[in-house]
Amino acid sequence: MSFTMHGIPVSGGIAIGHAHLVSHARLEVAHYIVPQHQVAEESARFDAALNTVRAELEELRTQIPPSAPREFEAFLNLHLMILNDSTLSQAPRQIIVSEQCNAEWALKVQMDVLLDQFDQIEDGYLRDRKTDVIHVVERLLKTLLGQPGYMPVPAMGGEQSLILVARDLSPADVIQFRQHQFASFITDLGGTTSHTAIVARSLNIPSIVALHHARQLIREHELLIVDGTLGMIIVDPDPQALAEYRLRQHQWELERQKLKRLRDTRATTLDQIEVDLQANIELPEDVEQVRENGAAGIGLFRTEFLFLNRDSLPDEDEQFEAYRKVVREMDGLPVTIRTYDLGADKQINGVEHASTNPALGLRAIRLSLTEPQMFLVQLRAMLRASHYGKLKILIPMVMSVSEINQTLIYIAQAKQGLEGRYIPYDRNVEVGGMIEIPAAALALNTFIKKLDFLSIGTNDLIQYTLAIDRSDDTVSHLYDPLHPAVLNLVAYVIKTVNKAGKPIALCGEMAGDVQLTRLLLGFGLRQFSMHPARLLEVKQQVLKSSLREIAPQVGKMLRADDPDKLRAMLDRLNT
Ligand code: PEP
Ligand code: MG
Repeated sequence: MSFTMHGIPVSGGIAIGHAHLVSHARLEVAHYIVPQHQVAEESARFDAALNTVRAELEELRTQIPPSAPREFEAFLNLHLMILNDSTLSQAPRQIIVSEQCNAEWALKVQMDVLLDQFDQIEDGYLRDRKTDVIHVVERLLKTLLGQPGYMPVPAMGGEQSLILVARDLSPADVIQFRQHQFASFITDLGGTTSHTAIVARSLNIPSIVALHHARQLIREHELLIVDGTLGMIIVDPDPQALAEYRLRQHQWELERQKLKRLRDTRATTLDQIEVDLQANIELPEDVEQVRENGAAGIGLFRTEFLFLNRDSLPDEDEQFEAYRKVVREMDGLPVTIRTYDLGADKQINGVEHASTNPALGLRAIRLSLTEPQMFLVQLRAMLRASHYGKLKILIPMVMSVSEINQTLIYIAQAKQGLEGRYIPYDRNVEVGGMIEIPAAALALNTFIKKLDFLSIGTNDLIQYTLAIDRSDDTVSHLYDPLHPAVLNLVAYVIKTVNKAGKPIALCGEMAGDVQLTRLLLGFGLRQFSMHPARLLEVKQQVLKSSLREIAPQVGKMLRADDPDKLRAMLDRLNT
């Protein structure tokens, strides 16, 4: 029987293929008593599995392709750390002895203890790391059960037609994926900020997370359609749906090819208004994709990703090398580097602050101002890199003039530090602020003069305006960029900054949503920054748009009080 399921889209496109269920070892654990004279043997069996998995992870570490995100190595290190910790490497052995039970059961008992401890942790990011513990335990269980390493691949149809259906996938599994060419993968768990989602995007195959019951409802070899753009799967589709999706898949591929031709075309509207389309990146390696898609610059480099999943902070030289690499590879095009937006869901080891509500707590610039030494290291690294191209500094989550004043003092101090060391930097480096808090949007006039440019972070602006936790999938249906409060705030910021004669960009997910391109152009936005994969589609929409036609309609949309009417107006605007 055919049915559909919905999850969170991670990577767009359409895949049609047969399900391959990734086994969930935990469910298969049996409990049995081991006779006293065999306990030592059972302990030795556990130790052997431990050694096998350790060797396996170490071997994987040597196989990381140079193009893989730097995080892959960090994930593997984290898994090795978990494996070697005495809570996993020794405690199960004690359980085998004291309970006289089999190694698998001892491991499962100990894992449950650890997971309970993780559940007590208030910090969301750290709590999420319990999935890493599960991944490591599953690897050990598979080895104990005689299924080491990663999945057998069914012969029929080749792996290009396989859709992996998993409860969750560990980063180590994803590294192994790089040696294969699966059509797609879908998982039951994982939010948009999970490790799985982060690494999944780099694979560039349609994928969906948070399907909740896919593993339970889908059978091995069942035919599936995955719509990675909508976050929807069709299980056992009827011939009509199949024909329709084969057509859509073909069209999607043709469309991708066609879009590539726009790479070097200037983004101008039909009435010759120039639009600046830039890209967002998380790691220096992402620049390749930025260049492939012909971005006019980098509008947002989320530098906090350099700080995650590691035990020590990146020092000034390491950061300098990373920033300089990006600036050099962009070859004179502007590179907007945001100072680290740590805190909330992106905590680092060593600088953790317990907070009852991390999204409203010490994050972004607030954290930087309480950690001046760490902040100064980053500012000096950025300034040093500014000598090698066009670098701009962007401050996340500004709220008040006093925060900006303090930041500018630290930037001046960082410059002084470099002068003392006779290190060159761009003396005219521009400093901008992100508008992500409704209060900052409404109080813009109190600090706009202090900044060289502004950028609207709609992901957070929506979160804080609508009081919706952006990483909580239980309220994701309420996360609405078209809410009148959001639209009015965005329009107000663009208008106010344009009036003040300063550059204004938008770098949240709204910038890459082609349904909103005309609306934002109508608000007066001329600079968009988005995931590089979205850029050519947005460019195509710009090329087809006439500002003269858009402007009168957009004014009415801001006054619309009925959401259905507003959506109808948006549809009209986009036709
Ligand atoms: C935003 O909030 O819109 C933004 C671009 O920043 P981030 O998604 O990194 O919070
Ligand atoms: Mg933000």
